[in-house]
Amino acid sequence: MPWNAEESLSRPELAKLQSHRLQKVCERVYARVPFYKKKFDEKGIKPSDIRNVQDIVKLPFTKKVDLRDNYPYGLFAEPLENIVRIHASSGTTGKPTVVAYNRNDISLWADVMARTFTCAGVTSKDVVQNAYGYGLFTGGLGAHYGAERVGAAVIPISGGNTQKQILLLQDFGSTAICCTPSFALYIYDVACEMKINLDTIKLRVGLFGAEPWTEEMRREVEERLRIKAIDIYGLSEIIGPGVSSECIEAQSGLHLNEDHFFPEIINPETGEPLPYGQEGELVITSMSREAMPLIRYRTGDITSLNPEKCVCGRTLVRMRRVRGRADDMLIIRGVNVFPSQVESVLLRTKDIAPHYVIEVDRKGRMDVLNVRVEVTAECMEKLAAKVLSTDLKSFAQEEEDLIKIKRDIQKNVKDIIGVNTEVTLVPPSAIQRSEGKAKRVVDNRPK
Ligand SMILES: [Zn+2]
Repeated sequence: MPWNAEESLSRPELAKLQSHRLQKVCERVYARVPFYKKKFDEKGIKPSDIRNVQDIVKLPFTKKVDLRDNYPYGLFAEPLENIVRIHASSGTTGKPTVVAYNRNDISLWADVMARTFTCAGVTSKDVVQNAYGYGLFTGGLGAHYGAERVGAAVIPISGGNTQKQILLLQDFGSTAICCTPSFALYIYDVACEMKINLDTIKLRVGLFGAEPWTEEMRREVEERLRIKAIDIYGLSEIIGPGVSSECIEAQSGLHLNEDHFFPEIINPETGEPLPYGQEGELVITSMSREAMPLIRYRTGDITSLNPEKCVCGRTLVRMRRVRGRADDMLIIRGVNVFPSQVESVLLRTKDIAPHYVIEVDRKGRMDVLNVRVEVTAECMEKLAAKVLSTDLKSFAQEEEDLIKIKRDIQKNVKDIIGVNTEVTLVPPSAIQRSEGKAKRVVDNRPK
């Protein structure tokens, strides 16, 4: 059963609710936020021109740079006395992006996160180990309030502290964990090093987000940790986590809470709206937010929307797993490359562990892509046995095996992504592990 009735409205019922909320939010920002009044006036739009949700295309876009230009409080639609929480995300260029919540926003956030936990099959009977970072980042507190709202017992351990995470998993009997997928794998690695018997851990589901990941990575996490891995999505500008989530029944696309967050897909170059099914940039209007609603916010995330009814009974549109932020996209010798595409290739290669770094350099005028990736411990053992073998033929085979792995990766990257790459194989544990968001790309090219 979904958490709220609004998750399974008929399309006409939903459109009616969306139209009403869109009108209200337009009135709100026009009356209270000078930035939006100016933007609306420039386009010759009055809030009364927005009669139903289809009229949304008449409205101006909001971009990340608008948040920066109005730093810190310029986009607030409430006086400070009504603000009860301020979060911020670290900007790549100096100043953070600031977001604000009033009491109703905090309650809305708890509710959409309760939907997320319910989607993942978490109930009041669960023990939720929340390993998202608490602080300015929205992940920790967002998951915390949502898990509390469904009545689960929340362990606010925050990120990092891997050995303690494992101790609590064992002793507190956590049944659900919230963290980045890369941290989940790291916890697994450390548990193996500590020779922990996984049967002593009751974990059955993980809610993973805050970094782009792939289907292949999902399979790794599910097989190693023996859990269901649920993809969740959000961004602080809209509310934090709680924008969309996969359901455990289908695990096929993330139900987007479109009664509160109206989604559009646009062509990122022209801004023109694209139909269901077509891939483009996700744009969201946070219609129910009060302290800092955003109109047609360009998320930079590339995805598509699927309106088909889901087996779980929810009618909310499903967004495809995000391939990566438009900002994360690398342009290598004119070819668009998402780190997640490289990850797909790596995890489909035998003897390769899901730990890698993509390095980009410029040699002369050429971009050079180098993938540093770990071989698995089992592969290392096989190789070591061959090296120690007195049989000379076996000894020579060792190098050949490594060359073959490299060639497989190079060929698949070339076939699937269309660029040549260098591959450096490294032993297990050679790649720096992350206790938060994994740093997958090192771009050494001059800006
Ligand atoms: Zn579903």
